[in-house]
Amino acid sequence: MKFKRFDVLIVGTGISGIYAALNLSPDLKILMLSKRELTLCNSALAQGGVAAVMDPSNDDYELHIKDTLIAGQYKNNLDNVKILVQQGPKDVERLVEKYGVDFDRNEDGSLALTLEGGHSRRRIAHHKDTTGFEIETSLIEQVQKLTNVTVINNSVLCRLERSDEMFFADVIVDNVEGGKKDHEYYCADSVILATGGIGRVYDFTTNSAIATGDGIQLAYNLGAEIKNLSYIQFHPTAFADKKNRECFLISEAVRGEGAYLLNCNKERFMPRYEPERKELAPRDVVSNCIMEEQKATGSDEFWLDISHKDTDFIKNRFPMIYNKVLEKGYDMTKESIPIYPCQHYLMGGINVDGKGATNIAGLYAAGECSHTGVHGANRLASNSLLEALVFSRLIAEDINAHKKTDVRTEVDYPMSAPDGKPLPHGIRTEVRHIMQKAYFVHPNYGEAEKGLQRITELKEQLDNSGYAITPEFVETKSLVTCAYIILKEVMERKNEK
Ligand SMILES: Cc1cc2nc3c(=O)[nH]c(=O)nc-3n(C[C@H](O)[C@H](O)[C@H](O)COP(=O)(O)OP(=O)(O)OC[C@H]3O[C@@H](n4cnc5c(N)ncnc54)[C@H](O)[C@@H]3O)c2cc1C
Repeated sequence: MKFKRFDVLIVGTGISGIYAALNLSPDLKILMLSKRELTLCNSALAQGGVAAVMDPSNDDYELHIKDTLIAGQYKNNLDNVKILVQQGPKDVERLVEKYGVDFDRNEDGSLALTLEGGHSRRRIAHHKDTTGFEIETSLIEQVQKLTNVTVINNSVLCRLERSDEMFFADVIVDNVEGGKKDHEYYCADSVILATGGIGRVYDFTTNSAIATGDGIQLAYNLGAEIKNLSYIQFHPTAFADKKNRECFLISEAVRGEGAYLLNCNKERFMPRYEPERKELAPRDVVSNCIMEEQKATGSDEFWLDISHKDTDFIKNRFPMIYNKVLEKGYDMTKESIPIYPCQHYLMGGINVDGKGATNIAGLYAAGECSHTGVHGANRLASNSLLEALVFSRLIAEDINAHKKTDVRTEVDYPMSAPDGKPLPHGIRTEVRHIMQKAYFVHPNYGEAEKGLQRITELKEQLDNSGYAITPEFVETKSLVTCAYIILKEVMERKNEK
């Protein structure tokens, strides 16, 4: 079978994939895949901002490192935390100067920096409450100008194999005009997996529909090391709406600007659990407090209230949140809004070193699918966009430094045919229900043990039953594989205690 050759294959067009492409040498031939339209990704959903030491008169690297380690329960990789914190400001500056990203400014023109939970200083650069969309669209505009980069929308990487010299990819591309899906075959010397998180393994998540852990599954099956996949962040304040699986996030910055958390009796409870940090304790701590308060009151009703702040300030600072919540029937300038914790972020992933390289030569991972160890057991708010920027640039620099010359446009490789029997319905729903019961904020070990048995059966079924290679099959296999690794780790951690 013939595979069309590129120097670098980047899987994902979120901030980590695109920033890698922008930093790769212009003489490299690059192919970028995006499972759906370019802006359907977690990057475009980011509200709060990017954390970095941008005002040295009031902040320093040591403080940012310390805050990151405290939030991460000191389970962070200190060397990579230093890289993140010390190199991060350069990348944030580059976003503005080179790529035209528009961050909010103070009257004197300096960056308007906000505060979020776990940060001891105002250090979060933001664009109102739509920071991710602003960065993502600015970077997309730049990458579309590059003649060495080919971007294919609606293209799903379904299989990734490796020979001694390079990687071979089976990609299903939506032929939108013809209304059918075609297999296309590509090969590359280097592959950057930038496929995002695993939120869709849960019933309720803030993540976009693409977050099915495909990159993690593909890397795992190639023999890459996967680390700390059970380090999952549950954000304390998603809009409480059991009808929608994709939960709307109420940014931590709302608490950063003074919002209170209230229980079912509309009483503020965080000062009882966390007298000093109160609502601005790190996310895992606040989510835990909500679960404790639920036990104490017997009610899962919780509220977030910023109505004591000036109405114009709320509308100007959080225009997107204000309008979304208003659509749902709540005016946050006048009343409290219903919230509840929700799956939000993955700290673990494909294990990489300080240059974003995995244990497989030529395979890199960036952004939420990677495990650099910078977040430890719990991510400090707004450190993930920074991680996506810093480590995807380092990957690009590593690839640039090891460029090979290969003039072939096509390479032969014997990949098996993608045919097979159709996938049965209902597996994804079953996986989501299992995960929601087995591990939500805290593990439920009884459910996790039962869940792991069933997930192991499903994994064997998907690995060995000869199903046809389709996007649905790949996403299902990815969700099952991620659920399997997460629950296995949960049970191993229980047994280590
Ligand atoms: C609601 C929300 C708010 C957030 N707010 C913040 C914040 O304020 N600050 C912060 O630092 N972080 C925030 N985060 C986290 C942050 O946005 C993400 O961690 C980060 O953007 C992930 O970027 P990424 O490039 O790794 O993945 P993504 O942006 O999710 O991109 C993944 C890409 O991979 C592609 N893909 C996946 N599988 C395949 C496949 N099989 N084939 C082809 N393509 C594939 C997708 O199409 C997509 O293009 C937030 C997250 C959410 C969900």
